[in-house]
Amino acid sequence: MVAALHAIVGDITTLDVDAIVNAANPGLTGGGGVDGAIHAAAGPELHEECLALDGCATGDAKITRGYDLPARYVIHTVGPVWHGGEHGEAELLASCYRRAIEVAAQNHLSTLAFPNVSTGVYGFPRELAPPIAVAAVRDALDHAPSIRGVIFCSYTTRDQVLYEDALLDHP
Ligand code: ADP
Repeated sequence: MVAALHAIVGDITTLDVDAIVNAANPGLTGGGGVDGAIHAAAGPELHEECLALDGCATGDAKITRGYDLPARYVIHTVGPVWHGGEHGEAELLASCYRRAIEVAAQNHLSTLAFPNVSTGVYGFPRELAPPIAVAAVRDALDHAPSIRGVIFCSYTTRDQVLYEDALLDHP
């Protein structure tokens, strides 16, 4: 069965899916933006589990439980900081999406929601990220048979439109 991909606008912490993806920092220590919102909604046990994971490399992903979130799990990925685009940023961003799908599949998860990784404090251009994200997810889904649905959860309508365009371009 082919997984369904959707672009929505909303607060990712409210989504009732198997896992939401967190745009974390390398220490997995929590921070601002979507990371801060996820930790606030999940409660302090998430922070404790994250500290035991010994960090996460840029482009990699690690899973924890979701605690007080509606989502059962959180998959923490560390996006690249934008340094102008000539430092492997696009490949590292693609790796975030690919690794998150791999981790979800290893845990036999079915539904997953992504935020717009790296496009906040990390400065990745908002117009460039959605095509990279959609292409990486589509490729990774070929090897992730348990996954039935993927949501790209934007925080603004403008970003949602960019994801809808990317989904049309990568059917
Ligand atoms: P990064 O450090 O990877 O850039 P940020 O959290 O600063 O991470 O931003 C990533 C994206 O998450 C931004 O596009 C921001 O608008 C979005 N965002 C912030 N809070 C939420 C939320 N609660 N739900 C979904 N997206 C969010």
